[in-house]
Amino acid sequence: MQFKEVINQEETKKGLIRFVSEQRISHALMFVGPPGSGKLALAIAFAQYIACDSRAGGDSCGKCPSCVKYNKLVHPDLHFLFPVMTTAKVTNPISDSFMNEWRDLVTVNPYISENEWYEAIGAENKQGFISKNESNEIIRKLGLKSYESEYKIVIIWLPEKMNHYAANALLKLIEEPPPKTLFLMVSENTEHILPTILSRTQLIRVPALCSKHIRDALLKKEADNFELVEDAIKKANGNYNVALNVLRNIEQELQYLNLFQTFMRHCYKRKLLELSEMTEQIASMGRERQKQLLSYFLRMVRENFMLNIDREELTYLSRQENEFSKRFSSYIHRGNVFDLADQISLAFQHIEANGNPKIIFMDLAIQVILLLKQESETD
Ligand SMILES: [Zn+2]
Repeated sequence: MQFKEVINQEETKKGLIRFVSEQRISHALMFVGPPGSGKLALAIAFAQYIACDSRAGGDSCGKCPSCVKYNKLVHPDLHFLFPVMTTAKVTNPISDSFMNEWRDLVTVNPYISENEWYEAIGAENKQGFISKNESNEIIRKLGLKSYESEYKIVIIWLPEKMNHYAANALLKLIEEPPPKTLFLMVSENTEHILPTILSRTQLIRVPALCSKHIRDALLKKEADNFELVEDAIKKANGNYNVALNVLRNIEQELQYLNLFQTFMRHCYKRKLLELSEMTEQIASMGRERQKQLLSYFLRMVRENFMLNIDREELTYLSRQENEFSKRFSSYIHRGNVFDLADQISLAFQHIEANGNPKIIFMDLAIQVILLLKQESETD
């Protein structure tokens, strides 16, 4: 990751570059700031800058052998520590146990949140921590000589997650650092860090991003729809990662709406061939997305029923959803809404139980064909 890939934070970048040019790099830096401001991205870009063989114009080159390894976060003198926990697959974990997942995620989005990280390693709703085993491992690694670079660099993401033992081990390392070793810590909550650690580190305060910079970044990389980007920024509160997620959710919902519309139209017209093709497409989406799609179907059936019985005030429809539902809602009524909901829920359960998605969605289509033809009961 080069500095130019980090959104804004120009002042901070300048300060970091100055440390290098004036040869006064502190051996322990603490990047502190709110979530989604780019602390981790800055720490990685700084490490890459230090290790780069041909720095120029206030940035790493991105091309030298060191940068090539940094781009994939596989440089042998770059070490990561981050919170982990026991999962279904790994017991007694340390960061290395999840290094592939970490690289996959962080190379794509260095603005990830703590929860997204836990989700990615299959441990949502659990608390991660940095353990005794972890600190022993890093002490061992730092005892080895560096492979390729002048410096060994240790990036510690969320040092506030260290347990007592690990924190004290780190304190010792910072007090008497092994030669040519840098510790770059990235914290969201310094209150939970030992004051003795804090007092020995140089604080780098990273402010929240302003709307303008988030907008520029989203328009450049993620979207060309200005309206959607504005919606995302409104909810982001200076957090780039939140803006990104909101944007993706909006785009995702538009795709689900599209699938819902097409599915229902084909069902209404009994176009079995088209429905069969559609199930192929849905089958290729992956199980999590199929479940999300079915949840979306369920919500749309509910909302359309509410419109049908003139309870628009109880609906939560976007402009596009509303547009479609104005006409479609006449097909979702007391005579079929409960059966439709049951069938979609059943499909959800079968997907969850690893059933064959093509068969499940085709079965659902056939049920929906029958139910859409059902007459509305007279009340
Ligand atoms: Zn380079």
